[in-house]
Amino acid sequence: MSTIQVKDKFFKPFISSDEIQKAVCQVADKINKDLAGKNPIFICVLNGAFMFAADLYKNITIDSEITFMRMKSYDGMQTTGKVKAISGLMEDIKDRTVVVVEDIVDTGYTMKNIIEQLKEKGAKEVKIATLLHKPEALKVELDLDYVALNIPNAFIVGYGLDYDELGRNLKDIYVIAE
Ligand code: 5GP
Repeated sequence: MSTIQVKDKFFKPFISSDEIQKAVCQVADKINKDLAGKNPIFICVLNGAFMFAADLYKNITIDSEITFMRMKSYDGMQTTGKVKAISGLMEDIKDRTVVVVEDIVDTGYTMKNIIEQLKEKGAKEVKIATLLHKPEALKVELDLDYVALNIPNAFIVGYGLDYDELGRNLKDIYVIAE
């Protein structure tokens, strides 16, 4: 692995594909133990979490389902500015155990918003599985059930995460070069 360029920025190798796979398997093992018998529904938050969701779900051995959604911006009332709402979720999640599969929890605002909206839709319990977490950047109180890897507060790309829609195809994770 060597330094790469994505658009106008340089990134250096940070987490190898092997390390990612190991961490993802550990999360899957824990979920298999914790949620056996609950028939959870995994909800992958597109686009960033698609690779994590695929690798995670390959290692899930309990009865469960997977589906996909997006967080879509729309112009809310002038006072609240941009609001993000769940879009594309077709399944009825009433009284279900839900596992939100997210690429990264940074400030935590997105995840808090997702949890609130899923609870409004009647989910019995909402668990969070995130590939990455930046503990130093967290701005809200959040109980993160499953974190594959904790990272420092720096911008990263690869393994589904983009810089201006590029870099999602990288097998490894790269961090911005200072
Ligand atoms: P939060 O609401 O927790 O601040 O932000 C969550 C979203 O911001 C993630 O789902 C992701 O789309 C984006 N994000 C946060 N940090 C990074 C990063 O380091 N790299 C990339 N590519 N996206 C990030």
